[in-house]
Amino acid sequence: MSPPPRGTEAVLLAQGNELTTGLTLDTNSHWLCGRLWEIGIDVRRIVTVPDRHEDLVAVLSEAQHLAPILISTGGLGPTRDDLTAQAVADAFGRPLALDDRALAQVEARFAAMGRPMAAVNRKQALLPQGADVLENRWGTAPGFAVDTPAGARVYCLPGVPWEMKPMIDAHVVPDVLARHAIAAPETRTVRVLGVPESVLEETVTGIELPGLEIGFRAMAPEVHVKLRFDPGVPADDRARAVDEVRRRVGWRAFGVDCGDLAEVAGAVLAARGDTLALAESCTAGRLAAWIASVPGASAYLLEGSVVYSNDAKVRTAGVDRATLDAHGAVSEPVARQLAAGIRARAGSTWGLGITGIAGPGGGTPDKPVGTVHIALSGPGVEDHRRLQLPGDRERVQRYAAAGALALLWRRLQGG
Ligand code: ATP
Repeated sequence: MSPPPRGTEAVLLAQGNELTTGLTLDTNSHWLCGRLWEIGIDVRRIVTVPDRHEDLVAVLSEAQHLAPILISTGGLGPTRDDLTAQAVADAFGRPLALDDRALAQVEARFAAMGRPMAAVNRKQALLPQGADVLENRWGTAPGFAVDTPAGARVYCLPGVPWEMKPMIDAHVVPDVLARHAIAAPETRTVRVLGVPESVLEETVTGIELPGLEIGFRAMAPEVHVKLRFDPGVPADDRARAVDEVRRRVGWRAFGVDCGDLAEVAGAVLAARGDTLALAESCTAGRLAAWIASVPGASAYLLEGSVVYSNDAKVRTAGVDRATLDAHGAVSEPVARQLAAGIRARAGSTWGLGITGIAGPGGGTPDKPVGTVHIALSGPGVEDHRRLQLPGDRERVQRYAAAGALALLWRRLQGG
């Protein structure tokens, strides 16, 4: 029986000892899977290989029979453990040769940085014969692409993510689209905060349309709902499907093809001329830093205080000592007073308060690690939530900050 017809597929090869020894997480493959999916290419294998020549040759030789597109990241540097070019040369019978264009590019990069080029960097211009050079305007190692004897094409890119990603968009995506006559699908991303992936999956069940595929991408603390439409799907149908996802998810679906919640909420605050002040205990400034990561945040973020100790809560946010004594620092009344107090002090439209137990110590039976109280104070609005967050300290802090911003977002939506 012949295999079922398949769309265009790819094999990803992530290489480097730092990946196989756990020093570096392979975020390249994760990103590539998403990027390829968006243009209608499915990933058939992801292979991670240490810096070992015979393994690289074996994997490359095999991969060319699995898919017409192979994408390798890493191993293009000047050092002895950078083996990609040699492995490609040996796997596909294309001996290495000095490539003048690649050499000129490496030299130009060093000149632009005002640094002398070490002799060892010439190695980066040794490419398999017949390779097409993929210019790296973001770093020193040029990429390259070669056709393999089995009719696949292998694209070799540096491992550094901020070099690899723009090179994929500048070189690989256009080349792949041209060679495979893929009519690129359209992808819309609905960004959701505060709904677990499993719940979301159930929420959107039944939204069906010929030519629509829905996928999920966990981008903690968010989940992205990706709607991939085949090229023939009418624009009205696409818009209806996106609207339906938003409608079902509700206010937690904070935007489509947009920035993160700090960006989206910030834009609304700026448009309304509203301002914000924060009193953070367990997140220790994390929410302030997140909000301030958006350019132009100074238009609405007036201040953020880290009120770790009880004294600081009293002194800075005007929390009652009696409330602290009666309920403890991690409590609803204290969160409410933090929000109202910092708002009053800053004279802002909105105030947010966060207090909780990030762990790993400090939990009690009635206030276990992960207990977080978030509160919002605003014009005619006082709101509070108690969250019970799983995970380690970092995760509790991240989700606490996100939960607090979501509380504000809901009110900005009139919810
Ligand atoms: P360069 O010449 O800039 O070193 P390179 O192609 O030789 O490029 P590597 O030396 O393999 O790249 O990797 C450089 C760095 O890029 C690694 O130390 C790591 O921080 C990051 N990196 C490599 N591969 C990955 C990956 N799959 N996912 C995330 N980061 C990666």
